[in-house]
Amino acid sequence: MKILIVGGGIAGLGLANVLNGNSDIELTVIEKESKWHIAGSGLYTPYNGVKVLDDLGMGELARTKGYIISHRLFLDEKGQTILDLDLEEIWSFKKPCLGINRKALHEVLLSKLENLNIHFNCSIQHLQEIENQVKVTFSNGETAMFDLVVAADGINSDTRKSIIGNIPFRLDQHQVCRLLIDKPASINNWTMFGSNDGIFLIIPISDEIAYCYISNKQSAKLSQEEFLEPFRSFASPVSDILNNKENLKKAYWSKVEELAPLETYGKGRIVLIGDAAHAIPPYMAQGGSLALEDAYALGKMILEDSNRDNWAQAFTNKRKERVDWVRARNRKRE
Ligand SMILES: Cc1cc2nc3c(=O)[nH]c(=O)nc-3n(C[C@H](O)[C@H](O)[C@H](O)COP(=O)(O)OP(=O)(O)OC[C@H]3O[C@@H](n4cnc5c(N)ncnc54)[C@H](O)[C@@H]3O)c2cc1C
Repeated sequence: MKILIVGGGIAGLGLANVLNGNSDIELTVIEKESKWHIAGSGLYTPYNGVKVLDDLGMGELARTKGYIISHRLFLDEKGQTILDLDLEEIWSFKKPCLGINRKALHEVLLSKLENLNIHFNCSIQHLQEIENQVKVTFSNGETAMFDLVVAADGINSDTRKSIIGNIPFRLDQHQVCRLLIDKPASINNWTMFGSNDGIFLIIPISDEIAYCYISNKQSAKLSQEEFLEPFRSFASPVSDILNNKENLKKAYWSKVEELAPLETYGKGRIVLIGDAAHAIPPYMAQGGSLALEDAYALGKMILEDSNRDNWAQAFTNKRKERVDWVRARNRKRE
């Protein structure tokens, strides 16, 4: 079976890990960047994502490269604890969740893919289903036939646009701010400081580094300085983090968006996975974990029965209920 994976992000590399090395599968991955370019900062990965890494035999490496999170602490702006969630109890699992640098997760996903057939600086110019195959014309003008094309090309998926057209985004919030900082000694778990203005979340992603996710409820109307202002009077270490100008120089400002729900994740032999299929805002930090779940589920479907015509429908039947369930709960956190 000849399979093309479009995009070497969490979903694409996750799927490559399930399929790579199987002698019945000829796998090609294309990535539009000219080399690995991992944008962004840190990730919180709840146990459903960590479980996929465990099932792929990479959980321990991820735990070594990341930071094990066993509690989620909700504090007010003065630093008083409102809620302490014991994640080992909730997930009934030891070392359930992880904070990890995006680059480190990428290294984990690449750790078992030494012989991967990957082409950088490459994307799809045109694709067309012909009988039981997909004819792909690449950006360099070359063409090839595949039995299955998996689009793991992220929230702005060109593959999705070419087979389904423009799908609207629900813009939930204009911008959020993310920082990588030296890990404060007092922060050893997922720790959220909150007030009526918004939240300042700090997650250790290694023994040395922590990741901050800052969200101001009024963000659409504010300049970056105004956005950060309410958090400057929060308890330590939030105030200290914001008073250190070096921390802010490395800030990532980004939009958070939700893709309108798709009826079908793709078309025929072209399947969408990860953010390409169902990007949601990071309120439950589920984007990466859903991408890993998708990769695992599709990979197993391929290994169990490669003889299907409508892959997109079969994959949708497998995943849509679960994804809709997560999206509905995510919306409750807006
Ligand atoms: C502010 C913010 C915070 C977040 N926090 C978290 C969090 O804490 N935890 C979490 O789990 N998730 C979080 N997410 C969501 C998470 O980043 C995504 O859900 C996840 O990266 C999706 O993985 P993916 O592989 O589907 O897509 P991506 O990670 O976007 O990967 C897509 C890949 O495809 C490549 N590509 C794109 N177009 C093409 C093309 N035409 N041809 C070839 N290659 C192409 C890209 O270069 C990239 O390598 C957050 C998102 C945002 C915006």
